[in-house]
Amino acid sequence: MSDCIFCKIANGEIPTDMVYEDDLVVAFKDVNPLTPVHVLVVPKKHYANIVDNVPAEVLAAMAHAIDVVTKQYGLDKTGFRCITNTGDDAGQSVHHFHIHILGGRKLDPEAGEGKK
Ligand code: 5GP
Ligand code: ZN
Repeated sequence: MSDCIFCKIANGEIPTDMVYEDDLVVAFKDVNPLTPVHVLVVPKKHYANIVDNVPAEVLAAMAHAIDVVTKQYGLDKTGFRCITNTGDDAGQSVHHFHIHILGGRKLDPEAGEGKK
């Protein structure tokens, strides 16, 4: 999608703090981090959200990226949270499917961290 910020980041049109990349997926630091580690895992192709017919191989690539990135930051030892806001009630603000990786401190078990 031509006016989508995450499409532009994924195709290199807008430079960003990239932490992982493969053929299907990129991962980069959130511009407004809510936790000491706040990384977004984003498919290179545009899907509106997690229920937008995302192919299994893309979901698998995203899971692999989460594995690599969390190990990169040592979060495999401490724990972390993954969330994907979907639609209005969740407050999704970028309508290109992405998974937040949140970690680097104790997360509130009650609050849906990753949302203000
Ligand atoms: P959502 O609210 O859709 O779940 O999450 C969108 C996330 O994207 C927010 O946490 C926001 O800070 C982040 N974000 C929005 N625009 C940009 C950008 O241009 N660059 C980066 N790195 N993150 C962005
Ligand atoms: Zn997009």
